[in-house]
Amino acid sequence: MKSGTRTIAIAIFAATLIVILGVLVMKTRAFDINAQNEINNTLRDLRQLDSEWDVDVLRAKIGLSSNYDRVASPLARITTLKDSLAAQSAALWGDYSDSYARLTSLTTAYSKLMDDKISLIEQFKSQNAILRNSSHYLPVAASELAVTVRSEDILLRNSNRAEFESALNNLLTDLAEFEGVTGVADATLRDRITTHSADLVRSMEPFSQEAHMQATTLLTHMQTLLKQQDIGEQLLTDLGKVDTLGAINALGNAYNQEQAGILTEQQFWLRALIIYSVILLLLLTYAGWRIVRSIRLLNQSNTALGKAYRDLQESQVQLIQSEKMSGLGRMVAGVAHEINTPLAYVSGTLSVLQDQLAPLGKLTTLVHDFIGLLRSKPQDKTAVNKTLLEIEADATAVTEQGVLTEIDTLLKDGMHGIDQISEIVLNLKNFSRVDRVQVSNFSVEAGLDSTLVLANNVLKTHDVAIHKNYGGAPTINGSPSQINQVFLNLITNAAQAMPADREEQNVITLSTSMEDHDTVRIEIEDNGAGIPKDVLPNVFDPFFTTKPIGEGTGMGLSICFQIIEAHGGRIQVDSEQDVGTIFTILLPIKAAQPTQAAVVSDD
Ligand code: ADP
Repeated sequence: MKSGTRTIAIAIFAATLIVILGVLVMKTRAFDINAQNEINNTLRDLRQLDSEWDVDVLRAKIGLSSNYDRVASPLARITTLKDSLAAQSAALWGDYSDSYARLTSLTTAYSKLMDDKISLIEQFKSQNAILRNSSHYLPVAASELAVTVRSEDILLRNSNRAEFESALNNLLTDLAEFEGVTGVADATLRDRITTHSADLVRSMEPFSQEAHMQATTLLTHMQTLLKQQDIGEQLLTDLGKVDTLGAINALGNAYNQEQAGILTEQQFWLRALIIYSVILLLLLTYAGWRIVRSIRLLNQSNTALGKAYRDLQESQVQLIQSEKMSGLGRMVAGVAHEINTPLAYVSGTLSVLQDQLAPLGKLTTLVHDFIGLLRSKPQDKTAVNKTLLEIEADATAVTEQGVLTEIDTLLKDGMHGIDQISEIVLNLKNFSRVDRVQVSNFSVEAGLDSTLVLANNVLKTHDVAIHKNYGGAPTINGSPSQINQVFLNLITNAAQAMPADREEQNVITLSTSMEDHDTVRIEIEDNGAGIPKDVLPNVFDPFFTTKPIGEGTGMGLSICFQIIEAHGGRIQVDSEQDVGTIFTILLPIKAAQPTQAAVVSDD
């Protein structure tokens, strides 16, 4: 598996583990018992209020309480409790969706029952008010009627009063009994009331219109009483059927059941969480063990890598050294060749000089002998004359043969050869700056010229003509020996890139100019084989070479790159196959101090 895919897979796995842990923790989060207790308290209050309300209704019915407001009073409180029950339930049970749905349906059922009850109680209130009103005015109407009947009876001297009194008394007694009945009055009482009211109406015949009207009022109140009593009874029966208390109890039971269910479920999830935590712990231990093992392996690889890196550095140093040695070898061969010609000159001249010295030596010996003969006493005139003639003959021969002129010419030739050797040595010195000045003001054009002298051999070998295109570049601040090393490398590569046996003249063009006000541009252009496109990006890589083993180390351009970079400059290559190559060097006039790497490679 690729390391990217592997990392993604591990990340997904870890995220899944965390999500599962989160879900388990959520599932086992503590159930808020206190909040449930609050709900239970609210239910208890509701239950209590409901019972009190029922009692109030009953009290209102049997007339113990004439204050109807009491019947209405718990309504506001019940509404508040109902609202807070809904809020508490939503807060605690909202997250347990299934339970909450069940509880909500029960709460709704309770609410509906409560609404029914409120509506019935409203009806009961108004019915009770009418009932109370009639019940209140019934005795008043009876007494008013009695007063009227008595007064009229005296006036009429009528004895019907007894009948009236009896009917009224019976009726009032029955009605009092009727009012006192709780529940549905029995039919006989109702029949009696009907009979007595008929008696009353009959007994009223002789009396005035006013008495009749009062009797009608009395009987209307009586009818209202009977009717409202029935309605009230019916309402109470209906109210009795509205089992709000049962609904509250059902709700309370449901809460208990759901709570028990949740606690059981929590137990299950808690066990699952414990098992999962153990598995996680094992996984973590395994991961920890893998990490420790990886760190150990990493440390081992680090040590091995460090060693490999040090070995590589060492072999790089060796290769740089060998590149320098091969460069040096090429240069020494070139210099040796260059010195060889004037040296042969000087040696030839000296050997001719040696030949020319023989007649002069003979002449010097004769002169010496002649002086000895002249000083001897007695003088041997014959010997003197003879020696004089010999000296004369030899001197004439030396003069005629132009020995002295030839010696002079030979000496001049010899001196010329020695001058040439001196020039090569001077260039060699310039090239490498044997004075070891690492950074100095340096003319790149002079550097190119010195390099050309030393590269003369390779240029001759590859039959290369040099074209110079100097633009009078100012001196730059840098290490002459390092920059000359770059020039020599590039010129040698260019000469070596010339195809053998072609008609076209092999040419290397050296150009200098100003790139901008503080950068010098040097171009080394050849019309050689060029560099193939696929090779071009690699030419500055260390160890990259296309030359046969033993000829190239592949370090030349890499070192050039390092040197130019260390001088704060840039080196670029542009090449076309079968057309030629241009190496462009851009060097700042005020170059940075060459770094240690470059200085090291200069040693
Ligand atoms: P080396 O000369 O030892 O091969 P270099 O780093 O100097 O190492 O050069 C790397 C390679 O770049 C050479 O082997 C050659 O293929 C290519 N190269 C460099 N200069 C030229 C040039 N002027 N023309 C054609 N090829 C070149």
